[in-house]
Amino acid sequence: MERRAQFPILAAHPELVYFDSAATAQKPQAVLDAVQTYLTTANANAGRGTYPWANRTTELVERTRRRVKEFLGDPRPERSTVHFTSGTTEGLRIVARDWLVPLLTDGDEILVPFADHRANLEPWQEARRLLAERGVAVTLRALPYQAASGDYDHRALAEAVGPRTRFVAATHVHHVYGGDMNVHRLRAAVGPGVPICLDAAQSVGHLPVDVGHPDLDVDFVVFSGHKAMALPGTGAVWARNTRGPELRPAGWAGTPNTVGIVSLLAALDWLESAGVDRIARHAVRLATRLTDRLRRLDAYEIEGCQASLAADSALGEGQRRQGIVTFRHREIPSDDLGFILFSHGFMVRADSLCQAGADEKDGVVRVSLHVYNTEEEIDRLLAVLESLA
Ligand code: PMP
Repeated sequence: MERRAQFPILAAHPELVYFDSAATAQKPQAVLDAVQTYLTTANANAGRGTYPWANRTTELVERTRRRVKEFLGDPRPERSTVHFTSGTTEGLRIVARDWLVPLLTDGDEILVPFADHRANLEPWQEARRLLAERGVAVTLRALPYQAASGDYDHRALAEAVGPRTRFVAATHVHHVYGGDMNVHRLRAAVGPGVPICLDAAQSVGHLPVDVGHPDLDVDFVVFSGHKAMALPGTGAVWARNTRGPELRPAGWAGTPNTVGIVSLLAALDWLESAGVDRIARHAVRLATRLTDRLRRLDAYEIEGCQASLAADSALGEGQRRQGIVTFRHREIPSDDLGFILFSHGFMVRADSLCQAGADEKDGVVRVSLHVYNTEEEIDRLLAVLESLA
């Protein structure tokens, strides 16, 4: 599944290899075309016009809303809502501030991840602060972790859940550890009535996300359009609206990011035609190729589930492994390794990856894979990593 030629920026730079799709994905020609067409044929404001361009813009925004629901396998689109955001960070803030805060009362508890992306911790901390200012004390409990596998500790979860647990925030795919967090086990642990909010920044567009499946009985799916091949500054919150009131973001009357929304429509169409399940299998195959050889080099230490999964279980364990491989060299600092890799044309992420609780000394190198990456790119990367071992 080699799609590199459909991505103009990659086609223009044959000497470079983009391994940073977990930060943001490259855009296929179809997305660039949709943006160009929109801006040259219909650019206007949405929801407020009486002339064709404005009507077309409104129609595209509403079509994208429906498309997001379809893309996520929404079984009851008449009930759910989609709100466009600038990305996952803003989406999680909206759920925290505009939906959760008004619902919580003194003594309530919420379960949140303390070792995932900071964007999925700070909004809940902020919610607690806002409530404390009003004299309402709520407790943030950590979703328990299994350090070795980089997964939630689903056995310990039962102890973390109590009669005052009102809400759970979780992550679908971990942006450092590279694995599916087995969120299907969360519902069983917390019971049928507790809302679950999923940070799906690393899953939407990378693997099938199906909220119609009983394994994904979550209430919010929050994602970044730009990681799903749409333009930067684009994202969405999908809300099921069955456990509690409808999500109504405050102050939602301004001009939407129409160009970003149009790009999201084209990106979701493109992803669907490429086949999200095929994209996921491709990325996992490349991740497996990388980890299988990296694991044999003592100079490197691999993080999370990619380290613990045996080679032949690449698609086992509930498909835990995804297309993200994070590692460190035991002697070469990660930022130096990042520079060395770029001198060979490889663009990777090399820092502490915005992980909650991590600081600069926790620097790692992350290789994240997508449909445009190839086995040959992995082999070239491995040749450089092996020369440094
Ligand atoms: N959550 C996770 C798991 C992420 O990987 C990221 C982006 N690195 C975010 C949240 C934040 O996304 P954005 O920057 O698009 O708001």
